[in-house]
Amino acid sequence: MTKRILVTGGAGFLGSHLVERLLAEGHDVLCADNYFTGRRANLAHLLDNKRLEALRHDITFPLYVEVDEIYNLACPASPIHYQFDPVQTTKTSVLGSINMLGLAKRLKAKILLSSTSEVYGDPLVHPQTEDYRGNVNTIGPRACYDEGKRCAETLFFDYHRQHNLRIRVARIFNTYGPRMHPNDGRVVSNFIVQALKNAPISVYGDGMQTRAFCYVDDMIDGLWRLMNAPDGVTGPINIGNPVEIPVIELARRVIAMTGSRSTIQHQPLPVDDPLQRCPVIDRARELLGWNPEVSLEIGLGRTIAYFDAEMRRGAIA
Ligand code: NAD
Ligand code: UDP
Ligand code: UDP
Repeated sequence: MTKRILVTGGAGFLGSHLVERLLAEGHDVLCADNYFTGRRANLAHLLDNKRLEALRHDITFPLYVEVDEIYNLACPASPIHYQFDPVQTTKTSVLGSINMLGLAKRLKAKILLSSTSEVYGDPLVHPQTEDYRGNVNTIGPRACYDEGKRCAETLFFDYHRQHNLRIRVARIFNTYGPRMHPNDGRVVSNFIVQALKNAPISVYGDGMQTRAFCYVDDMIDGLWRLMNAPDGVTGPINIGNPVEIPVIELARRVIAMTGSRSTIQHQPLPVDDPLQRCPVIDRARELLGWNPEVSLEIGLGRTIAYFDAEMRRGAIA
């Protein structure tokens, strides 16, 4: 059955892959994005599709449209972007979620939130299960993002309990792949672009902090399965690839895979940078039948190929 689906943040990295998937499933897709970190180029290959409509809109303002489902992805996701205008970041998660929940309530539409592993802060429990309540510095530079998402989760569950809204909350762990913004400062894009330029690889701190990286296609499949799970599955559900590696090891792998002459250059560790992060995904496996399938080796290879092509066509300075 064809549905009308709203994707906020649809011109961003994850949003554009999700829009592509939903169009491929035969749905009508409305993308709402203010193009803060999103790019028209991310959707350029889809704009001929008559089922896609792209709207310039900031979700901190009300939106009156008619849809059956809402994926609320709008929010800058990389530290340099979400710290650029921290008040707007909190507004996007809080006011933006209120508006999208109000829209869902009026339409009786199902709504999904792209929450984040950052709700666990610098975690004292490792690896992280959904029951862990987190260790966030409420007044630090990351709080606009972390606390914004925590409040968004609260709003989703209160609309669910108070107004019987059908909600889905995904806690997304570090995700990478083609169409990541080359200058957004995230570790995978930074390392690949630096390696392709034979420039120094910027490892923050000693590089022993860990992350677990999920390839974008696996992530989109997880979000899609969560949205389409039986009623009663609300989440929160961790979605990520539970293969944990130290950042310095990622640097070494990128250097090896690109055949780069880059050397590693240590730089200061950012304030409140989580020292370790890795998801427990038992819930996603049981409730969604989901399991990440793309290994870091394969995913990095595809991402390197993407950035290499972008550089060759002059899209990266
Ligand atoms: P992104 O920055 O590429 O995409 C975010 C999109 O939201 C952009 O297109 C941006 O222009 C848009 N946007 C920002 N503020 C807006 C506003 N007020 N109104 C309308 N549009 C707005 O980031 P992404 O990696 O694609 O992340 C998408 C979602 O997934 C975010 O909610 C993010 O918090 C979440 N997430 C991502 C990751 C990851 O590793 N990529 C990890 C955890 C959570
Ligand atoms: N809203 C929206 N589109 C709609 C319905 C509501 O953007 O189709 C916004 C509107 O700004 C409203 C918010 O969602 O303030 C929350 O809606 P809700 O019905 O929960 O509360 P109220 O209308 O009482 O403020
Ligand atoms: N990082 C790094 N060099 C970079 C960018 C990031 O060493 O050029 C580190 C960063 O300190 C963090 C990890 O890589 O420990 C992941 O950073 P990213 O910004 O990609 O995601 P997040 O911190 O939100 O998990």
